Amino acid sequence: MTARYTIRDFQREFPDDDACLEWLKDFLYPAGIECRHCGRVTKHHKVKSRKSYSCDVCGHHVHPTAGTIYHKSSTPLTLWFYAIFLMSATRCGVSAKQLELGVTYKTAWRMFKQIRSMLEENRDPLSGEVEIDEAYIGGVRKGRRGRPGYGDNKVPVVGAVERHGNIIAKAVESTNKETLIGHIVENVEPGTTIFTDEFRGYKTLSTLGFDHWVIKHKIEYVNGFIHTNQIEGFWSLFKNGIRGVYKHVGKGYVQSYLNEYQFRYNRRKSGVPMFQHFLAQTSQLSWWTPYANR
Ligand SMILES: [Zn+2]
Repeated sequence: MTARYTIRDFQREFPDDDACLEWLKDFLYPAGIECRHCGRVTKHHKVKSRKSYSCDVCGHHVHPTAGTIYHKSSTPLTLWFYAIFLMSATRCGVSAKQLELGVTYKTAWRMFKQIRSMLEENRDPLSGEVEIDEAYIGGVRKGRRGRPGYGDNKVPVVGAVERHGNIIAKAVESTNKETLIGHIVENVEPGTTIFTDEFRGYKTLSTLGFDHWVIKHKIEYVNGFIHTNQIEGFWSLFKNGIRGVYKHVGKGYVQSYLNEYQFRYNRRKSGVPMFQHFLAQTSQLSWWTPYANR
């Protein structure tokens, strides 16, 4: 369980926009602000009713929001931070509709999209015992089980999860052998013990240096240590979470949601509050501009 961080904690830490900006400044400039004009680390003061700080020596202005997702947004920083808090506080995702931010649905939707765009992460390859499985997200045809046929409008996803550890999940073009194996070779260390179902796409894994165990789902779901329960648990969490937004299905769209879900999942055992992980991740510079500090 991650450390608790309640809505009361949030309100205490971020009572207004100035508190958010102060946090952002300290986050982006942990060693103090080096003034571009003086060329030294100087004392800076908040400029009244502006989102900037000015150098005590020369008066040069610094805008901490420059280059972040908060840049040029007319939405107050407290609402941004609150949206991030909501996303961190849920287990199964938050939809723009559920939001009571006091902004329009469209604005809320755009905010969440931007927050999600910051949640992509590169992880070290998985090792030890790894479960691998594919799934199909969205699509118009109801009631069909199993692997879909052509034209079903579903987005295939493939995931690998280290038992009791991290997941790496990707939206892919198809679940042909090349794609599946490509995902595995890229994200799982050679020699790893791998568990999959009997899908033929995984057949060649043992010839590639993996210790491959197969659970035959036609017969049973668990055979001792041979199962894919953990990865299936992730898929059901993910599918339940985005069920309400299925109609928007597209590969990039599914990937951005996957990024959100795996970001939470991979920190589920952290001793640091989930909100702090989210806030730090989404407050990084999202684009480089030579004018960022001007
Ligand atoms: Zn200066």
